[in-house]
Amino acid sequence: MGVTVGTLDLDAYVGAADAAIRAASSTDALDAVAAEYLGKKSQLALVQRTFGSLSDEEKRTAGAALQQVRSTLDGAISGRREALAAAERLEQLEADRLDLTEVVPAQVRRPLRRGHQHLISQTQAELEDVFVGMGFTVADGPEVETDWYNFEALNIPPAHPARGMWDTFYLELGDPETVVLRTHTSPVQVHLMEEAVANNTLPIHAVMPGRCFRRDTPDARHLHTFHQIEGLVIDEGITFTDLAGVIQTFTTAYFGPAMSSRLRPAFFPFTEPSAEFEITCAICQGAGCRTCSQTGWIELGGCGMVDPAVLDAVGIDATRYSGFAFGFGIDRCAQMRYQIADMRALVENDLRFVEQF
Ligand SMILES: [Zn+2]
Repeated sequence: MGVTVGTLDLDAYVGAADAAIRAASSTDALDAVAAEYLGKKSQLALVQRTFGSLSDEEKRTAGAALQQVRSTLDGAISGRREALAAAERLEQLEADRLDLTEVVPAQVRRPLRRGHQHLISQTQAELEDVFVGMGFTVADGPEVETDWYNFEALNIPPAHPARGMWDTFYLELGDPETVVLRTHTSPVQVHLMEEAVANNTLPIHAVMPGRCFRRDTPDARHLHTFHQIEGLVIDEGITFTDLAGVIQTFTTAYFGPAMSSRLRPAFFPFTEPSAEFEITCAICQGAGCRTCSQTGWIELGGCGMVDPAVLDAVGIDATRYSGFAFGFGIDRCAQMRYQIADMRALVENDLRFVEQF
């Protein structure tokens, strides 16, 4: 049988409050329940205000009963509050969960910043493709060479005036002036010929791209570190006509059909006869401009028939084999094709320049 204080049945009151507390589905709802059953305007508070008419004995008994109700409901409310808070934390965690399997639609995806090959690397790859398409293989060689590979085997003995054509970086290795940063890719030709002789794998049809070094002061058309691609063909019955055909085919393939090439007599120690080859000036399409000194032509590289003395030096039978070699600047090709006024832009790594290609 329930305890009653004034008009309030305490058991029924606690029962109703308990049901409301358990039904509260959020901390906000629970706050409202707490205000309804324990707040200043609750029935509990109203009953308390009628105590003035009670005797001291009755006050004590009723007060203790109400206090009991209060602490019962307080306990129930704080228990429910903790349960709700825990559930809300879980909900938040669930909402914050990072779904690593989620597929983001392309239209809301932020674009990735991707790097790309430098113009020189792109140009080298493209030139390799052109020559591979003509049946050449691609060969590689060291950037540090001995004097023998860089000069002597190429028919440039010590004190030969032609050494003046290459301003050389010497390394402090071995005897003075015996180890160099290669001044051209031609030493790779010597390695290739030696290997072909040693392994009996003639003929040779190869191109050799790579970095070269000369003690030049950089300017609009020269760099101290630059890139060359060199070609070497050694086979039976090779003539100057084959060389001219390869140069013309390459020019058309890389620069397009509007570009032509021509050969002019020149001197190189390791080829005889030798020629410089020129292409139609890309800036004026051959009409004549300041870049090409009004000639309509731009020098791209050198070439010629391999000197029999070079074949002898590596042990190739010059009475049976003949060949041609050519070489030109990769940087110069890029400069011509993209009309880059100053070659130094290629190595300064200014993103505004680099990102254009
Ligand atoms: Zn021009």
